[in-house]
Amino acid sequence: MSILFTNVTAVTMDPARPVLKDAFVAVEGRSIASVGTVRPQGEFDRVIDCAGKVMMPGLVNAHTHVPMALMRGYGGGCDLHTWLNDYIFPAEDKLDDRCVAAGAALGLAEMIASGTTCIADMYMNTETIAQTILEAGISANLACGAVYFGAPEDFSPETCNDCGNHVRLFENWHGAGDGQIKVDASIHAEYTSCPPAWEWVADFAQKHGLGMHVHVSETASEHEKCLEKYGMTPIALLDRYGVWANGGIAAHCVWVSDEDMELMRERKITAVHNPVSNLKLASGVARVPALLRAGVNVALGTDGVASNNNHDLFEEIKLAAILHKGVSGDPTAVSAFDALAMATVNGANALRRDTGVIAPGKIADLILLDFTQPNLFPCHDVMENLVYSARGSNVCMNMARGKIIYENGTFLTLDLEKIRAEVEGYALPHIFG
Ligand SMILES: [Zn+2]
Repeated sequence: MSILFTNVTAVTMDPARPVLKDAFVAVEGRSIASVGTVRPQGEFDRVIDCAGKVMMPGLVNAHTHVPMALMRGYGGGCDLHTWLNDYIFPAEDKLDDRCVAAGAALGLAEMIASGTTCIADMYMNTETIAQTILEAGISANLACGAVYFGAPEDFSPETCNDCGNHVRLFENWHGAGDGQIKVDASIHAEYTSCPPAWEWVADFAQKHGLGMHVHVSETASEHEKCLEKYGMTPIALLDRYGVWANGGIAAHCVWVSDEDMELMRERKITAVHNPVSNLKLASGVARVPALLRAGVNVALGTDGVASNNNHDLFEEIKLAAILHKGVSGDPTAVSAFDALAMATVNGANALRRDTGVIAPGKIADLILLDFTQPNLFPCHDVMENLVYSARGSNVCMNMARGKIIYENGTFLTLDLEKIRAEVEGYALPHIFG
């Protein structure tokens, strides 16, 4: 399938030409074939006139738990640890594959409609999520988030469920859909496992060349308890066990130290900023300007919608851009460009994917926003409108891997009515009674 976009206004995230006007973007198969101001030669299966619209790279949600869409807003008014122990863990105990499939489909529908084309997800029943991703059409790095609550001396990969889950997920799904799905090794967090588990996961990642996905220093108490117990911060402690040998995704990083930031730059560890979730759970505000100054790659995530309560990355983009201005008193603390980079090219780097930029040869993950909507008109500066004025509901087209999967309110890979019926008819009664 070949598609030509005409009359394109775009924020490309390509330093060679950051903003395009009156341009042509051609897509051939799953890649961007050409970008320029001269109409490319040849016939196209479809031509899309982008007058009144703005194109940007599809958004990368670098830390989420997509099936948690079922628990949207559940357990509000709590700190992280109360919320997890009293609400989320008991609800998750009741999940089965069918619930997870329904929740994943619902979460993916919301993501697709608000412009996301690529995610890094950490959750259980991960093979079920993989199947749903294949159907939905976006790209995903999937991780099963190893937890181990037993005594360290009793740890054995044969009896640790999440070791088996890592092996099955990798063998059955790594590279599936011609690279649509990648598998990352994963430790849920320092406080939900122990050194022998970290060693096993680190070794598994190194043996297979996989990325790594871990919750790190989300709350002050987690960070302080780790220092008390091990005499090291979570980032440094996990490094000692080889967890970051291939770099990785460190979700949250609210309480990381200056020394941690140095190590993160050296090891190519991405800090995934989840401002809405961190504020809602009263976890704090990550020092994003300091992370950027230290040369750390910073990406954006929604986290699960049980603590967000939506998957609209435009909210995270705006908050990432304004929150740190307010905290620091510096109106240049995080620029509009920085915030867009976090949601696109930086996320792509974190997931080790060739996307997040509108340039020839890149994967064709592209979205269009309707700039005739009242909240986007007038437009003095395209980048400013995308960061400070846009909402996910302004997205009118989502192309993932060269295929249009959502257009003008219609889902082309998912059946929203069927998803709603499955959530209401099966998943919610199964979990909540
Ligand atoms: Zn999380």
